[in-house]
Amino acid sequence: MYVHFPFCRQRCSYCDFAIAVRPQIPHQEYLSALRHELAAKVSLFPERRAVSVYFGGGTPSLWEPACLATALQDIQATFPAPLGIPMEVTLECDPGGVSLDQLLAWRAAGVTRLSIGAQSFSHHHLTALRRQHQPEQIMELVDRACQTGFDRISLDLLIGMTGQTEEELAEDLRQLLVLSPEHVSLYQLTVEPHTLLSVHIRRGQTQAPSPDQQADAFQTVRHTLQAHGYRHYEISNFARARPDDPDYRAVHNRLYWTHGEYLGLGVSAHSFRRLSEGGGERFANHRGPSAYLRTWGRAADRRPFVPSATEPSLSLYEQRAPESLWREALWLALRELDGVRWSQFVALHHVDPRQACAAILARLTERGLVISSPDSLRLSDQGVLFADDVGAAFL
Ligand code: SF4
Repeated sequence: MYVHFPFCRQRCSYCDFAIAVRPQIPHQEYLSALRHELAAKVSLFPERRAVSVYFGGGTPSLWEPACLATALQDIQATFPAPLGIPMEVTLECDPGGVSLDQLLAWRAAGVTRLSIGAQSFSHHHLTALRRQHQPEQIMELVDRACQTGFDRISLDLLIGMTGQTEEELAEDLRQLLVLSPEHVSLYQLTVEPHTLLSVHIRRGQTQAPSPDQQADAFQTVRHTLQAHGYRHYEISNFARARPDDPDYRAVHNRLYWTHGEYLGLGVSAHSFRRLSEGGGERFANHRGPSAYLRTWGRAADRRPFVPSATEPSLSLYEQRAPESLWREALWLALRELDGVRWSQFVALHHVDPRQACAAILARLTERGLVISSPDSLRLSDQGVLFADDVGAAFL
Protein backbone atom coordinates (compact mmCIF):
# COMPACT_ATOMS: atom_id res chain seq x y z
CA MET A 1 0.00 0.00 0.00
CA TYR A 2 1.20 3.47 -0.83
CA VAL A 3 -0.40 6.53 0.78
CA HIS A 4 0.43 9.94 -0.65
CA PHE A 5 0.22 12.98 1.63
CA PRO A 6 0.54 15.95 -0.72
CA PHE A 7 1.24 18.90 1.58
CA CYS A 8 4.61 20.57 2.18
CA ARG A 9 5.69 23.70 4.03
CA GLN A 10 7.38 25.15 0.95
CA ARG A 11 8.27 23.83 -2.49
CA CYS A 12 11.94 22.83 -2.80
CA SER A 13 13.72 24.33 -5.80
CA TYR A 14 14.06 21.01 -7.68
CA CYS A 15 10.70 19.46 -6.81
CA ASP A 16 8.06 18.58 -9.39
CA PHE A 17 6.11 16.14 -7.22
CA ALA A 18 2.37 16.38 -6.74
CA ILE A 19 2.38 18.65 -3.72
CA ALA A 20 0.61 21.73 -2.44
CA VAL A 21 1.62 24.43 0.01
CA ARG A 22 -1.36 25.56 2.08
CA PRO A 23 -1.56 27.95 5.04
CA GLN A 24 -3.85 25.40 6.73
CA ILE A 25 -3.45 21.70 6.00
CA PRO A 26 -6.86 19.98 5.80
CA HIS A 27 -5.81 17.10 8.08
CA GLN A 28 -9.26 15.66 8.82
CA GLU A 29 -10.69 16.24 5.35
CA TYR A 30 -7.78 14.43 3.78
CA LEU A 31 -8.19 11.52 6.18
CA SER A 32 -11.85 11.20 5.44
CA ALA A 33 -11.30 11.34 1.66
CA LEU A 34 -8.62 8.68 1.95
CA ARG A 35 -10.92 6.39 3.94
CA HIS A 36 -13.62 6.73 1.30
CA GLU A 37 -11.12 5.93 -1.43
CA LEU A 38 -9.91 2.87 0.47
CA ALA A 39 -13.47 1.62 0.93
CA ALA A 40 -14.20 2.11 -2.79
CA LYS A 41 -11.09 0.23 -3.96
CA VAL A 42 -10.96 -2.72 -1.53
CA SER A 43 -12.84 -4.93 -3.96
CA LEU A 44 -10.04 -4.55 -6.56
CA PHE A 45 -7.75 -6.62 -4.33
CA PRO A 46 -9.97 -9.36 -2.86
CA GLU A 47 -8.54 -11.56 -0.08
CA ARG A 48 -5.22 -9.79 -0.28
CA ARG A 49 -2.80 -9.09 2.55
CA ALA A 50 -0.38 -6.17 2.79
CA VAL A 51 3.29 -6.66 3.55
CA SER A 52 4.05 -2.95 3.52
CA VAL A 53 2.42 0.44 3.98
CA TYR A 54 4.41 3.45 2.84
CA PHE A 55 3.41 7.02 3.72
CA GLY A 56 5.12 9.22 1.13
CA GLY A 57 4.65 12.69 -0.19
CA GLY A 58 4.78 15.59 0.02
CA THR A 59 5.60 15.63 3.69
CA PRO A 60 3.54 13.00 5.52
CA SER A 61 5.35 13.81 8.78
CA LEU A 62 3.26 17.04 8.76
CA TRP A 63 0.05 15.04 9.05
CA GLU A 64 -1.49 15.08 12.52
CA PRO A 65 -0.31 11.81 14.10
CA ALA A 66 -3.88 10.93 15.13
CA CYS A 67 -5.00 11.13 11.48
CA LEU A 68 -2.07 9.03 10.32
CA ALA A 69 -2.85 6.47 13.05
CA THR A 70 -6.50 6.24 11.96
CA ALA A 71 -5.52 5.81 8.29
CA LEU A 72 -3.07 3.07 9.23
CA GLN A 73 -5.62 1.27 11.43
CA ASP A 74 -8.12 1.31 8.59
CA ILE A 75 -5.60 -0.06 6.11
CA GLN A 76 -4.42 -2.79 8.49
CA ALA A 77 -8.00 -3.81 9.26
CA THR A 78 -8.74 -3.99 5.51
CA PHE A 79 -5.52 -5.65 4.39
CA PRO A 80 -3.92 -7.43 7.40
CA ALA A 81 -0.32 -8.60 7.25
CA PRO A 82 0.32 -12.17 6.10
CA LEU A 83 0.50 -14.59 9.03
CA GLY A 84 3.93 -14.61 10.65
CA ILE A 85 5.27 -11.73 8.55
CA PRO A 86 5.50 -8.34 10.27
CA MET A 87 4.20 -5.47 8.17
CA GLU A 88 6.75 -2.80 7.24
CA VAL A 89 5.24 0.63 7.88
CA THR A 90 7.41 3.46 6.55
CA LEU A 91 6.92 7.15 7.10
CA GLU A 92 8.81 9.70 5.02
CA CYS A 93 9.96 12.34 7.38
CA ASP A 94 11.23 15.90 6.98
CA PRO A 95 13.99 16.51 9.53
CA GLY A 96 12.74 20.02 10.36
CA GLY A 97 10.91 20.39 13.65
CA VAL A 98 9.94 16.81 14.52
CA SER A 99 9.15 16.56 18.25
CA LEU A 100 9.65 13.67 20.64
CA ASP A 101 5.87 13.50 21.05
CA GLN A 102 5.43 13.00 17.31
CA LEU A 103 7.98 10.19 17.28
CA LEU A 104 6.26 8.50 20.22
CA ALA A 105 2.88 8.87 18.54
CA TRP A 106 4.19 7.35 15.29
CA ARG A 107 5.67 4.41 17.21
CA ALA A 108 2.39 3.89 19.06
CA ALA A 109 0.51 4.04 15.75
CA GLY A 110 2.65 1.22 14.34
CA VAL A 111 5.22 3.00 12.18
CA THR A 112 8.28 0.71 12.04
CA ARG A 113 10.61 2.57 9.70
CA LEU A 114 11.52 6.22 9.10
CA SER A 115 12.75 7.46 5.75
CA ILE A 116 14.39 10.79 6.52
CA GLY A 117 14.86 13.37 3.76
CA ALA A 118 18.33 14.49 4.88
CA GLN A 119 19.61 15.27 1.32
CA SER A 120 22.76 17.08 2.48
CA PHE A 121 24.64 18.14 5.60
CA SER A 122 25.72 21.45 4.06
CA HIS A 123 23.88 24.62 5.18
CA HIS A 124 24.73 26.23 1.89
CA HIS A 125 23.29 23.47 -0.32
CA LEU A 126 20.21 22.96 1.86
CA THR A 127 19.44 26.66 1.54
CA ALA A 128 20.02 26.63 -2.24
CA LEU A 129 17.66 23.66 -2.55
CA ARG A 130 15.06 25.52 -0.43
CA ARG A 131 14.90 22.65 2.02
CA GLN A 132 13.17 23.49 5.27
CA HIS A 133 15.74 22.03 7.64
CA GLN A 134 19.26 22.54 8.90
CA PRO A 135 21.96 19.84 9.20
CA GLU A 136 21.76 19.84 13.03
CA GLN A 137 18.09 18.84 12.81
CA ILE A 138 19.03 15.67 10.92
CA MET A 139 21.32 14.61 13.79
CA GLU A 140 18.70 15.54 16.41
CA LEU A 141 16.02 13.59 14.63
CA VAL A 142 18.12 10.44 14.20
CA ASP A 143 19.11 10.61 17.91
CA ARG A 144 15.53 11.04 19.05
CA ALA A 145 14.28 8.34 16.70
CA CYS A 146 16.81 5.88 18.14
CA GLN A 147 15.80 6.87 21.69
CA THR A 148 12.17 6.18 20.86
CA GLY A 149 13.02 2.71 19.58
CA PHE A 150 13.16 3.11 15.79
CA ASP A 151 15.72 0.60 14.57
CA ARG A 152 15.07 0.93 10.86
CA ILE A 153 16.12 4.36 9.69
CA SER A 154 16.80 5.31 6.09
CA LEU A 155 18.50 8.56 5.08
CA ASP A 156 18.10 10.16 1.64
CA LEU A 157 21.28 11.67 0.24
CA LEU A 158 21.28 13.99 -2.77
CA ILE A 159 24.37 14.31 -4.96
CA GLY A 160 25.43 16.40 -7.94
CA MET A 161 24.23 19.78 -6.74
CA THR A 162 25.75 22.59 -8.79
CA GLY A 163 29.06 23.56 -7.26
CA GLN A 164 29.20 20.58 -4.88
CA THR A 165 32.91 20.04 -4.25
CA GLU A 166 34.63 16.74 -3.53
CA GLU A 167 35.29 18.02 0.00
CA GLU A 168 31.61 18.79 0.54
CA LEU A 169 30.64 15.34 -0.65
CA ALA A 170 33.25 13.77 1.63
CA GLU A 171 31.86 15.78 4.54
CA ASP A 172 28.28 14.66 3.73
CA LEU A 173 29.46 11.07 3.75
CA ARG A 174 31.42 11.54 6.98
CA GLN A 175 28.35 12.93 8.75
CA LEU A 176 26.11 10.24 7.33
CA LEU A 177 28.45 7.50 8.52
CA VAL A 178 28.51 8.99 12.03
CA LEU A 179 24.75 8.56 12.13
CA SER A 180 25.10 5.04 10.74
CA PRO A 181 21.56 4.57 9.40
CA GLU A 182 20.45 1.04 8.50
CA HIS A 183 19.59 2.16 4.97
CA VAL A 184 20.65 4.89 2.53
CA SER A 185 18.82 6.03 -0.63
CA LEU A 186 20.95 7.96 -3.08
CA TYR A 187 19.48 10.49 -5.52
CA GLN A 188 21.11 12.54 -8.25
CA LEU A 189 19.79 16.07 -8.59
CA THR A 190 17.79 16.27 -11.81
CA VAL A 191 16.41 19.39 -13.44
CA GLU A 192 12.70 18.97 -14.10
CA PRO A 193 10.83 21.44 -16.31
CA HIS A 194 8.78 24.10 -14.50
CA THR A 195 10.81 23.93 -11.28
CA LEU A 196 12.47 26.94 -9.71
CA LEU A 197 15.82 25.29 -10.38
CA SER A 198 15.08 25.14 -14.12
CA VAL A 199 14.09 28.83 -14.09
CA HIS A 200 17.34 29.76 -12.33
CA ILE A 201 19.34 27.79 -14.90
CA ARG A 202 17.50 29.43 -17.80
CA ARG A 203 18.24 32.87 -16.38
CA GLY A 204 21.89 32.01 -15.89
CA GLN A 205 21.67 32.37 -12.09
CA THR A 206 23.02 28.87 -11.61
CA GLN A 207 24.43 26.10 -13.78
CA ALA A 208 22.88 22.77 -14.67
CA PRO A 209 24.40 19.81 -12.80
CA SER A 210 27.21 18.15 -14.73
CA PRO A 211 26.59 14.49 -15.68
CA ASP A 212 30.31 13.69 -15.32
CA GLN A 213 30.45 15.22 -11.87
CA GLN A 214 27.31 13.29 -10.89
CA ALA A 215 28.80 10.01 -12.17
CA ASP A 216 31.98 10.65 -10.16
CA ALA A 217 29.96 11.51 -7.04
CA PHE A 218 27.91 8.34 -7.49
CA GLN A 219 31.05 6.20 -7.62
CA THR A 220 32.51 7.96 -4.56
CA VAL A 221 29.36 7.35 -2.51
CA ARG A 222 29.10 3.78 -3.72
CA HIS A 223 32.67 2.87 -2.85
CA THR A 224 32.61 4.69 0.49
CA LEU A 225 29.40 3.05 1.66
CA GLN A 226 30.57 -0.38 0.53
CA ALA A 227 33.83 0.12 2.41
CA HIS A 228 31.77 0.83 5.54
CA GLY A 229 29.74 -2.34 5.39
CA TYR A 230 26.77 -1.27 3.30
CA ARG A 231 25.50 -3.58 0.65
CA HIS A 232 24.70 -1.87 -2.65
CA TYR A 233 21.57 -3.89 -3.35
CA GLU A 234 19.74 -1.69 -5.84
CA ILE A 235 20.95 1.06 -8.18
CA SER A 236 20.04 3.82 -5.73
CA ASN A 237 19.86 1.93 -2.45
CA PHE A 238 22.24 0.61 0.17
CA ALA A 239 21.50 -1.42 3.29
CA ARG A 240 23.78 -2.10 6.21
CA ALA A 241 24.82 -5.73 6.13
CA ARG A 242 26.60 -7.83 8.70
CA PRO A 243 26.23 -11.57 9.02
CA ASP A 244 24.30 -11.18 12.29
CA ASP A 245 22.06 -8.36 11.03
CA PRO A 246 18.49 -8.73 9.90
CA ASP A 247 17.83 -7.80 6.31
CA TYR A 248 17.60 -4.01 6.16
CA ARG A 249 16.60 -3.85 2.51
CA ALA A 250 13.39 -1.87 1.99
CA VAL A 251 10.45 -4.27 1.77
CA HIS A 252 8.30 -1.65 0.10
CA ASN A 253 10.60 -0.63 -2.73
CA ARG A 254 11.58 -4.23 -3.34
CA LEU A 255 7.93 -4.90 -4.16
CA TYR A 256 8.14 -2.50 -7.08
CA TRP A 257 11.35 -4.05 -8.36
CA THR A 258 9.97 -7.56 -8.06
CA HIS A 259 6.81 -6.49 -9.90
CA GLY A 260 4.43 -6.93 -6.97
CA GLU A 261 0.92 -5.51 -6.99
CA TYR A 262 0.14 -2.34 -5.07
CA LEU A 263 -2.75 -0.09 -4.22
CA GLY A 264 -1.96 3.62 -4.01
CA LEU A 265 -4.25 6.00 -2.14
CA GLY A 266 -4.29 9.79 -2.19
CA VAL A 267 -3.38 12.54 -4.61
CA SER A 268 -1.47 11.26 -7.67
CA ALA A 269 -1.07 7.75 -6.20
CA HIS A 270 -0.45 4.91 -8.68
CA SER A 271 -1.84 1.38 -8.43
CA PHE A 272 -1.02 -1.82 -10.26
CA ARG A 273 -2.85 -5.12 -10.31
CA ARG A 274 -2.70 -8.27 -12.34
CA LEU A 275 -5.81 -9.38 -14.19
CA SER A 276 -7.15 -12.91 -13.96
CA GLU A 277 -7.34 -13.14 -17.76
CA GLY A 278 -3.60 -12.30 -18.03
CA GLY A 279 -1.76 -9.00 -18.24
CA GLY A 280 -2.44 -6.22 -15.82
CA GLU A 281 -3.60 -2.65 -15.36
CA ARG A 282 -1.99 0.44 -13.97
CA PHE A 283 -3.86 3.58 -12.96
CA ALA A 284 -3.16 6.85 -11.16
CA ASN A 285 -5.18 9.53 -9.41
CA HIS A 286 -5.12 13.18 -10.50
CA ARG A 287 -2.43 15.43 -9.07
CA GLY A 288 -4.52 18.23 -7.55
CA PRO A 289 -5.44 18.06 -3.84
CA SER A 290 -8.60 20.16 -4.31
CA ALA A 291 -9.93 17.85 -7.01
CA TYR A 292 -9.03 14.84 -4.87
CA LEU A 293 -10.92 16.21 -1.87
CA ARG A 294 -13.94 16.97 -4.06
CA THR A 295 -13.90 13.48 -5.61
CA TRP A 296 -13.49 11.44 -2.45
CA GLY A 297 -14.75 13.88 0.20
CA ARG A 298 -18.24 12.41 0.46
CA ALA A 299 -18.76 8.68 0.54
CA ALA A 300 -22.42 8.87 -0.39
CA ASP A 301 -21.59 10.40 -3.79
CA ARG A 302 -19.46 7.51 -4.90
CA ARG A 303 -20.54 4.80 -7.26
CA PRO A 304 -18.52 1.54 -7.27
CA PHE A 305 -15.01 2.22 -8.52
CA VAL A 306 -14.07 0.49 -11.76
CA PRO A 307 -10.68 1.45 -13.20
CA SER A 308 -11.00 2.50 -16.82
CA ALA A 309 -9.81 5.13 -19.29
CA THR A 310 -13.06 7.04 -18.74
CA GLU A 311 -13.04 7.02 -14.93
CA PRO A 312 -12.97 10.77 -14.09
CA SER A 313 -10.87 10.43 -10.91
CA LEU A 314 -7.94 8.97 -12.86
CA SER A 315 -5.23 10.83 -14.76
CA LEU A 316 -3.76 7.62 -16.14
CA TYR A 317 -5.16 4.23 -17.07
CA GLU A 318 -3.33 1.61 -19.07
CA GLN A 319 -3.95 -2.05 -19.74
CA ARG A 320 -0.82 -4.07 -20.20
CA ALA A 321 -0.50 -7.19 -22.28
CA PRO A 322 1.41 -10.16 -20.79
CA GLU A 323 4.44 -9.55 -23.04
CA SER A 324 4.73 -5.90 -22.06
CA LEU A 325 4.52 -6.96 -18.38
CA TRP A 326 7.28 -9.55 -18.49
CA ARG A 327 9.56 -7.16 -20.37
CA GLU A 328 8.91 -4.53 -17.73
CA ALA A 329 9.47 -7.11 -14.97
CA LEU A 330 12.87 -7.93 -16.46
CA TRP A 331 13.85 -4.27 -16.56
CA LEU A 332 12.73 -3.73 -12.94
CA ALA A 333 14.40 -6.92 -11.68
CA LEU A 334 17.73 -5.81 -13.13
CA ARG A 335 17.64 -2.72 -10.90
CA GLU A 336 18.53 -5.05 -8.02
CA LEU A 337 22.21 -5.86 -8.14
CA ASP A 338 21.61 -9.56 -7.45
CA GLY A 339 19.87 -9.48 -10.83
CA VAL A 340 17.51 -12.04 -12.28
CA ARG A 341 17.47 -15.76 -11.47
CA TRP A 342 16.30 -17.34 -14.70
CA SER A 343 14.54 -20.27 -13.02
CA GLN A 344 12.44 -17.92 -10.86
CA PHE A 345 11.70 -15.61 -13.77
CA VAL A 346 10.54 -18.43 -16.01
CA ALA A 347 8.37 -19.91 -13.24
CA LEU A 348 6.69 -16.53 -12.64
CA HIS A 349 6.28 -15.24 -16.17
CA HIS A 350 6.18 -18.45 -18.24
CA VAL A 351 8.64 -17.04 -20.74
CA ASP A 352 12.39 -17.42 -21.05
CA PRO A 353 14.13 -14.16 -22.03
CA ARG A 354 17.28 -16.13 -22.89
CA GLN A 355 15.38 -17.18 -26.00
CA ALA A 356 12.97 -14.28 -26.44
CA CYS A 357 15.66 -11.58 -26.00
CA ALA A 358 18.74 -13.49 -27.17
CA ALA A 359 19.94 -10.74 -29.54
CA ILE A 360 19.49 -7.98 -26.94
CA LEU A 361 21.29 -10.02 -24.28
CA ALA A 362 24.19 -10.71 -26.64
CA ARG A 363 24.49 -7.01 -27.47
CA LEU A 364 24.41 -5.88 -23.81
CA THR A 365 26.93 -8.56 -22.82
CA GLU A 366 29.25 -7.54 -25.62
CA ARG A 367 29.10 -3.91 -24.48
CA GLY A 368 30.02 -5.05 -20.98
CA LEU A 369 26.80 -3.74 -19.42
CA VAL A 370 25.45 -7.05 -18.10
CA ILE A 371 26.98 -10.24 -16.78
CA SER A 372 25.22 -13.31 -17.97
CA SER A 373 25.57 -16.86 -16.65
CA PRO A 374 23.51 -20.01 -17.28
CA ASP A 375 21.57 -19.26 -14.03
CA SER A 376 21.31 -15.52 -13.87
CA LEU A 377 21.70 -12.08 -15.39
CA ARG A 378 22.89 -8.96 -13.58
CA LEU A 379 24.25 -5.50 -14.25
CA SER A 380 28.01 -5.15 -14.44
CA ASP A 381 29.77 -2.33 -12.55
CA GLN A 382 29.65 -0.33 -15.76
CA GLY A 383 26.02 -1.33 -16.37
CA VAL A 384 24.98 0.21 -13.03
CA LEU A 385 25.92 3.62 -14.48
CA PHE A 386 23.82 2.99 -17.60
CA ALA A 387 20.94 1.12 -16.01
CA ASP A 388 18.26 3.14 -17.79
CA ASP A 389 19.74 2.26 -21.20
CA VAL A 390 19.95 -1.41 -20.23
CA GLY A 391 16.33 -1.42 -19.06
CA ALA A 392 15.08 0.42 -22.13
CA ALA A 393 16.62 -2.24 -24.39
CA PHE A 394 14.06 -4.77 -23.11
CA LEU A 395 10.96 -2.57 -23.35
S1 SF4 B 1 9.82 18.21 0.88
FE1 SF4 B 1 9.95 16.71 -0.80
S2 SF4 B 1 7.90 16.69 -1.68
FE2 SF4 B 1 8.02 18.55 -0.41
S3 SF4 B 1 8.64 20.16 -1.82
FE3 SF4 B 1 10.52 19.34 -0.95
S4 SF4 B 1 11.18 17.70 -2.38
FE4 SF4 B 1 9.05 18.22 -2.84
